[in-house]
Amino acid sequence: MKVIVIGGVAAGMSAAGKIKRNRLDAEVVVYEKGGTLSYGACGLPYYVSNVIKDRDRMIARTADEFRSQGISVNLYHEAVKVIPERREVIVKNLKTGETLIDTYDKLVITSGASAVVPPWEGSGLGNIFVLSNLEDGDAIKQAAHHSDVKSVAVIGAGFIGVELVEAFLEIGKQVTLIELQNQILPGFDKDMVQSLQEELAQQGAVLKLGEKVERFEGSGRVNRVITNVNSYAADLVVIAVGVRPNTSFLDGTDVARLKNGAVVVDRSMRSSIPDIFSGGDCATVYHRILVRTDSYIPLGTNANKQGRMIGDIITGIPVDYQGTLGTAMIKVCGMEAAKTGITEKEAVINGIPYKAVTVTAENHAAYYPDPEPLLIKLITSPDSKKVLGAQIAGRSGAAIRIDIFAMAVHTGMTAPELGYVDFGYSPPFAGVWDAVGIAANRVK
Ligand SMILES: Cc1cc2nc3c(=O)[nH]c(=O)nc-3n(C[C@H](O)[C@H](O)[C@H](O)COP(=O)(O)OP(=O)(O)OC[C@H]3O[C@@H](n4cnc5c(N)ncnc54)[C@H](O)[C@@H]3O)c2cc1C
Repeated sequence: MKVIVIGGVAAGMSAAGKIKRNRLDAEVVVYEKGGTLSYGACGLPYYVSNVIKDRDRMIARTADEFRSQGISVNLYHEAVKVIPERREVIVKNLKTGETLIDTYDKLVITSGASAVVPPWEGSGLGNIFVLSNLEDGDAIKQAAHHSDVKSVAVIGAGFIGVELVEAFLEIGKQVTLIELQNQILPGFDKDMVQSLQEELAQQGAVLKLGEKVERFEGSGRVNRVITNVNSYAADLVVIAVGVRPNTSFLDGTDVARLKNGAVVVDRSMRSSIPDIFSGGDCATVYHRILVRTDSYIPLGTNANKQGRMIGDIITGIPVDYQGTLGTAMIKVCGMEAAKTGITEKEAVINGIPYKAVTVTAENHAAYYPDPEPLLIKLITSPDSKKVLGAQIAGRSGAAIRIDIFAMAVHTGMTAPELGYVDFGYSPPFAGVWDAVGIAANRVK
């Protein structure tokens, strides 16, 4: 059996590695457009700020390590076309410019997604970046640590944008965060991000919410961002307004895709064409609460699981993807936030009946020094009281608690069941009623 993998980072190398571990005799050929495999993209903001100093630590496994496992790795090789009828992939060697045709028994498409850059005038000016991969991280890091870069504008207040604001504050820049919506982290309900916005402002960031970027100005290098409201000094700009799946090499094929280009896959990561699998940021994912396979949630958590499962399925181990909850966490300077399952916004958009309960509870026993408030919002089903989603914001101990809620949502636990789980108690860590239990027991 010969397997071609297009794209060699989280999903791709999880699949390739698993196939080889399950079946030594399988021939696995990876084509990766870039020069690095299997690195921690999620660590890039911390690499930019120099919290992570050593570039090598960003790389989980090198090409040579994969090669020694028997995987044929081809860096700087871009898949430019797939011809499913002939089971062919046309690949361009980006170093030599030559093209080659390779054939597969099974094809794994794990080509990820690229940052969207709207057609704003001036976006080609110097010192305007996106942050999608390690090379982008290198470029931003190099530019940002230059002493003549005093002010930075981050466009887009999603996870990557907010993490970058923290990174630029960390290295002493004046930071302006510009966001079209009237809140940061639009994946959260608005009432959950107020304290995070205050934290960013307190740390020195200027937040411009509800503003639309129109163009960039500068001569050779950017020096201003112009919005529909005002203009802001910026010696460096990062555009972080979303991503688009890298699947244009499928144009002209019958592989079913969403409007944004994501390959539609079922719970076995099978595409609409036999023997073509896909996962990670270039594919859809099964959402456990929305019960649909066409969700697009580009997260490393999903990519790693989907990739590993593709490896199992291709080698004959039947597994079904259990579903994502979109669980995500973020550090926002001295604060933390996290979410799992559906938000109130998502319940409304999807017409799901719900009840929302918001509580503030302390992160450890109130009598132990320095208790800190955790804001928790639970979304439950009004009839069954099943927990459908949770969001949390606070300081120490906030984000990691989301995993308890994720388990409750995943298993279909009701709020009363969650409220009486035997959580541990010790003053430095939790109260005798932990914040999670307090929130669950508030659901009537
Ligand atoms: C700054 C940042 C922070 C993040 N933080 C988090 C986080 O905290 N938690 C979390 O869960 N997720 C996070 N993510 C998202 C996470 O990194 C991605 O979901 C994950 O990397 C997706 O893995 P993937 O394998 O699908 O795609 P990618 O990692 O994008 O890999 C795809 C690879 O395919 C290659 N490729 C593309 N087209 C072709 C082609 N035609 N031929 C050959 N190769 C091709 C690309 O060069 C790329 O190397 C973050 C992402 C970024 C950028």
